[in-house]
Amino acid sequence: MERILITGAAGFLGSHLCDRFIKEGYHVIAMDNLITGDLKNIEHLFKLRQFEFHHHDVSKFVNVPGDLKYILHFASPASPIDYLKIPIQTLKVSSLGTHNLLGLAKSKKARILVASTSEVYGDPLVHPQPEEYWGNVNPVGPRGVYDEAKRFMEAITMAYHTFHGVETRIIRIFNTYGPRMRLNDGRVLPAFIGQALRGEDLTIFGDGSQTRSFCYVDDLVEGIYRLLLSNYSMPVNIGNPSEISIKEFGEEIIKLTGTSQKLISLPLPQDDPKQRKPDITKAKKILGWEPKVNRDEGLKITYEYFKSLSKDDLFKKEHRQF
Ligand code: UDP
Repeated sequence: MERILITGAAGFLGSHLCDRFIKEGYHVIAMDNLITGDLKNIEHLFKLRQFEFHHHDVSKFVNVPGDLKYILHFASPASPIDYLKIPIQTLKVSSLGTHNLLGLAKSKKARILVASTSEVYGDPLVHPQPEEYWGNVNPVGPRGVYDEAKRFMEAITMAYHTFHGVETRIIRIFNTYGPRMRLNDGRVLPAFIGQALRGEDLTIFGDGSQTRSFCYVDDLVEGIYRLLLSNYSMPVNIGNPSEISIKEFGEEIIKLTGTSQKLISLPLPQDDPKQRKPDITKAKKILGWEPKVNRDEGLKITYEYFKSLSKDDLFKKEHRQF
């Protein structure tokens, strides 16, 4: 059985990747330090012999006995609220953590795919964003700890590729949603659905004219799978180009949930990107990939997931001690 290490395995994306690689017949070595991940996301896998879990922070030396075919580095806080609460860990996991995992890839002769982000484009001045765009990032703003760590991640990954001949893949992930998102991580989709379910008004930051483009998680996982198996080592955008303003998105959630609450406006956070939409020409050409799930379908599945959570989960404030 081929063995794959997945970091951030108890998180939203990591847990879906565990499911996919188990389904593809791999032995999955899951790693997470559980500061933003949740074991609930992978507890259904614990009974499988082809699955093992290591509670470990990848910013520290990473030791995995035995062969490794692939490494997927998906450990990182990933919401603006988290970066504010745990800025140092956010910086460390994508810098020191990536360095450790590249070293592991080199010693195991494993191929490594690292999860980069549309945040490397910052508040983009080019729209939609192609991979050739270098971005517009404020290094000392609240998002700097995430954006710059991910930019460093890309740089060190390319350096290991060029100087050590490590087989590397870099995915730039745009806003993604689906079951297992954390209800209270501050991201717009769980925020809106949580508010609708609790009977609260939906909080729009600013006037809601800023745009995002939301990709359903299954589409993203398919893109990751194809990129890992491809022979392309430059960054590739994976996301859904269907763009929507946050105000319209709020209206869609009101319609979906049937809530009688309204949209209310709160101040816009600093450096909040005004627009974001992936140019996926490369993914289409190189991977033959494009998203298949439209927002209507994806949002229905995601809403069912949030509805299935207990009242306790729904009303409890973020319980994590960062
Ligand atoms: N946002 C909002 N209300 C919320 C949470 C977020 O209007 O309760 C906005 C936020 O300002 C941003 C967009 O929704 O413009 C997406 O925010 P998110 O935190 O999901 O991710 P980002 O794409 O900004 O990293």
